[in-house]
Amino acid sequence: MLSNKENQAADTTSSKSTSSTCETNFEFKFSSEPTLESLGEKLLDFCKERNWQEFHSPRNLLLALVGEVGELSEIFQWKGEVPVGLGRTFTDNEKEHLEQEISDVFIYLIRLAQACKVDLPKAVESKIELNKKKYPIDKCFGKSNKYNEYH
Ligand SMILES: [Mg+2]
Repeated sequence: MLSNKENQAADTTSSKSTSSTCETNFEFKFSSEPTLESLGEKLLDFCKERNWQEFHSPRNLLLALVGEVGELSEIFQWKGEVPVGLGRTFTDNEKEHLEQEISDVFIYLIRLAQACKVDLPKAVESKIELNKKKYPIDKCFGKSNKYNEYH
């Protein structure tokens, strides 16, 4: 027999799985560790230990990033629309593969930012502020048009 706590957990799990195909809840939190800076340091160390710095020019890193985006895209290819949270669209193996390819994309994005000396967290924060101005809530709420169609 399940305790109250276990019953609540089971209820939560079953309601999530039945509503997963139409889930629209985007709430999700990343871990606070490791930080972007520590990941960047690990990637630099990985690169230096293999003497790969000479290969990691901005152009090469960009092309590698695009290649990884292609690998990530392949996972979604032919699946049709996929729900937020992925629902039952992906097997456990496909989810693991997705996690690896998203990581490859992020790894090359971090390396590209390093090679271009772009302070990625600050740059992203600035871009979000710029996007708030480009997409004022009163003009674009619930609309998917490009910013130049609002002005
Ligand atoms: Mg890959």
